[in-house]
Amino acid sequence: MTAKIRLYVEHPLGVGQSVPLDKGQTHYLFGVMRQAIGGSILLFNGVDGEWRAEIVEAGKRGGVLRCVEETQPLVMPPDLWLLFAPIKKARTDFIVEKATEMGASKIVPVMTEFTNAGRVQRDRLQAHAVEAAEQCGGTFVPEVAEAVKFGKLLDHWDNARHIMFCDEALAGQTSGLPTIAGPWAILIGPEGGFSEKERMRLNKLDHTHPVVLGPRILRADTAAVAAMTVWQQTLGDWQQT
Ligand code: SAM
Repeated sequence: MTAKIRLYVEHPLGVGQSVPLDKGQTHYLFGVMRQAIGGSILLFNGVDGEWRAEIVEAGKRGGVLRCVEETQPLVMPPDLWLLFAPIKKARTDFIVEKATEMGASKIVPVMTEFTNAGRVQRDRLQAHAVEAAEQCGGTFVPEVAEAVKFGKLLDHWDNARHIMFCDEALAGQTSGLPTIAGPWAILIGPEGGFSEKERMRLNKLDHTHPVVLGPRILRADTAAVAAMTVWQQTLGDWQQT
């Protein structure tokens, strides 16, 4: 009866619900994990919680699972977005993976003045978020948005959402995260940091809060994890654990 394999599916889940497998899932379950009819798998779809399902059809080209019981309700993360300037491919993948594990509700690649990464492959990054949710036991998968230019992002910014502006120029000074409830976004810059123009634009906004992550300059991927840790500990769902 144990079900340790977790799969994200784009299909409704509920008692007795049949869930067809796609090609990749079929290969993974029957080819890689050597599962067979009667095997138990955990399924989630980001909406209906987590369900234990049994394999009822297993073939080379497809298979079907049937939901048996709910094992976890849907647990939404706090309303926290991670805005980050894409960096090298592997480090960008790392940021998306960690942001999912740490409980971001949305992940937004932002093209800043000093961003020197190539084109962002949104679908690839979304697949990384799915994989991270599968392995961390989460029941929600954050959306990875299309990359957006810094200026356009701020032109359309909803003033109700506070920005935790992680500003390397303040490293070594004291500027902590204010304990203001509501929707938030963390902003992490690229390897080259923020330009003065960007810094000035951000600092003119009422809802921007410059925050320092200690006395040393962190790599962008380290900074993303550190910032999410600070936010989750101060305002997020770590307070309940
Ligand atoms: N090239 C920049 C410099 O030398 O000053 C460093 C940029 S850092 C590698 C990338 C991003 O991580 C920054 O834009 C900032 O968002 C964040 N960051 C790194 N260290 C930080 C710190 N001590 N405080 C706040 N943010 C930090």
